Amino acid sequence: MELEKSSALLVIDIQQEDFLDMDERNMDAPEWASIRNAKRVLDVFRKKGLPVIQIKEAHRPDMVDFGRELDGAEGIHCIETRPESDYAKLTYPVDGEYRISKRRYSAFFGTDLEILLKGLRVDTLYMIGGLTNVCIHYTAVDAHQNDYHIRVVTDAVAGSSKEAHEAALRAIRYLQRDALVTVADIVSSLEERATSRDIYLMREAIRLSALSVEHGNEPFGAVLAKDGEIVFTNENQIYTKHDPTFHGEAGLIREFCAQTAITDLHEYTLYASCEPCFMCSGAMVWVKLGRLVYGASNIDLEHILGNEGCNCSKMVFDHSFWHPQVTEGVLREESLAILKAYFEKHEKG
Ligand SMILES: [Zn+2]
Repeated sequence: MELEKSSALLVIDIQQEDFLDMDERNMDAPEWASIRNAKRVLDVFRKKGLPVIQIKEAHRPDMVDFGRELDGAEGIHCIETRPESDYAKLTYPVDGEYRISKRRYSAFFGTDLEILLKGLRVDTLYMIGGLTNVCIHYTAVDAHQNDYHIRVVTDAVAGSSKEAHEAALRAIRYLQRDALVTVADIVSSLEERATSRDIYLMREAIRLSALSVEHGNEPFGAVLAKDGEIVFTNENQIYTKHDPTFHGEAGLIREFCAQTAITDLHEYTLYASCEPCFMCSGAMVWVKLGRLVYGASNIDLEHILGNEGCNCSKMVFDHSFWHPQVTEGVLREESLAILKAYFEKHEKG
């Protein structure tokens, strides 16, 4: 997905008092998943230079400003003079991030959030933090009623219970049908978009995929480029080489490395007419490929074959030590047309 230029991130109530038991040794525990996810979202906004507004709840020590907040399930919380009321360390505001203290659950109530948003010319608000059913929910409601687009990152917010979390998300989606997004959606916005050069080089990979059929093999082509120039190409040769592993991409990597003695491809981009399989994606990890661009997805291919398929390259990269940058879906329809024409008449080898 794309992050709209007019977006801001609201980091809501990620304060130390909820994370007192979290330390470097237990950081990876499942109970801290939402704050780890919140940090991933925060990193994307920081990387893109989009506004981040860090909001915390704060009450005076004499409790004069609690209003009716102690009439419900919540006890005394967020006393502003206590160190644990400060922002949590993992997501602590950095220079250039705006800070707002609020006395109520909604970040709009009695704060200057609206003035800030107007100044930033923001119309879409992403939200992370907690609690889903309290401060996230009421802030989302006020954002909606003030005509903002709302985007709650469902795996970077936490509720007072699983049921309350889910019910609040349903209520928020009732307001705006596009209001719920995930960390993966946000992270995907960092993926590079295809350039006109990418399209040109993908067209070459697709031309090779058609050529491999003429040569008696399956319709998959691959192009390796450095600085936008083609350095090596290959097509699927599983039948003519009697080598079921001679896929467009794995074959290209093997031949290129053998011929040039170059085994580190972090400065190279590989264009594949179809998403690389598990084996080829694994090969891309071993050569530290810099960037992968592909046309049709594995799910597209498997649908043609009557199977479900999966995002196999992502599965491999997400669980590996090396993560090539990925741009997907480039000339997808052209790639699909060749796959369909072939697999309507042939079985997969
Ligand atoms: Zn493969």
